[in-house]
Amino acid sequence: MKTTLITLILTAMTAYAFSQNMPEVDKLSTSAGDVEMYFIGHGSLMFKFNNFVIHVDPVKSYGNYDLMPKADLILVTHEHYDHLDPDLIKTLRKERTIMFCNAASASKVPWAQVVKPGDKKNVNNITVEVIPAYNIINERAKGQPFHPKGVGNGYIITIGDKRIYVAGDTENTPEMKALKNIDVAFLPMNLPYTMAPAMVADAAKAFRPKILYPYHYGDTNTEELVKLLMGTNIEVRIRKLK
Ligand code: ZN
Ligand code: ZN
Repeated sequence: MKTTLITLILTAMTAYAFSQNMPEVDKLSTSAGDVEMYFIGHGSLMFKFNNFVIHVDPVKSYGNYDLMPKADLILVTHEHYDHLDPDLIKTLRKERTIMFCNAASASKVPWAQVVKPGDKKNVNNITVEVIPAYNIINERAKGQPFHPKGVGNGYIITIGDKRIYVAGDTENTPEMKALKNIDVAFLPMNLPYTMAPAMVADAAKAFRPKILYPYHYGDTNTEELVKLLMGTNIEVRIRKLK
C-alpha cells in the first residue's frame, strides 16, 4: 500500500516536471506528413518532421535543451546573443548536421554554411529560402539600425505543400509584405528592436499568412495584435514565445 502510494507520487512528480520543461507543440499537417512545431521560447523554435529535426535560433537560456533531440538542420537568423549560441550548437551537432546562417554568425561557427537573401537550399526534400531581415525605422543611434539591411536572414521552410516563414529580427519590410503563399508565419514583436503590434498587423494584412504566431515578443501585449487582426481570416496563435 505504502509502495503504491510512493510510486503514484513519484509518477505524478515526474509528469509535472516533464510538463514544466517540455515546450508547447502544435501539429501542422502537410502533403508529406505532419510537422511538429515546438515553441521553445523567444526566437528559439524546433520543427520535427519524420524524425528530421530542424532547430531555429537555438539558445540555451530559452528552454531545456536536454529534452530536445540533436539537429539535422540548424538555421540561425543572425549573430545577436539571443539568436546565436555557439556552445549549444556544439551540443546539438551530429556528424551530418547542416547549418545555414548569416556571415557574422559563421565567424563563430566555422563549419556553418553562409546563406544570403535570394538563396534557396534543399536538404532532405525540405527547401529553405532566405528572406532579408532588417529595421526600417528603429535604430540604436542616429543612422545605426538595430538590424542593418544586408546582415540578418529570415527563412521560409517548405515541407510538403506547406510554407513556414520564420522572420528573424526585422520590421515590416517591402520584401516581407510581398511574400506569397505563406501558411505559417513567425513575426517578431518587441520594441525597440523589431515591430510594434501595428507593424506586425500591417505586414500580416499584406502577405496574409493562414496562421500567425507573434514571437520574440518580450513584454508586448499580444492582445493588441489579436484585436488588430480580428475580422481578417488570419488565425493568430499566442504561444509562450516571450
Ligand atoms: Zn537581433
Ligand atoms: Zn532578437
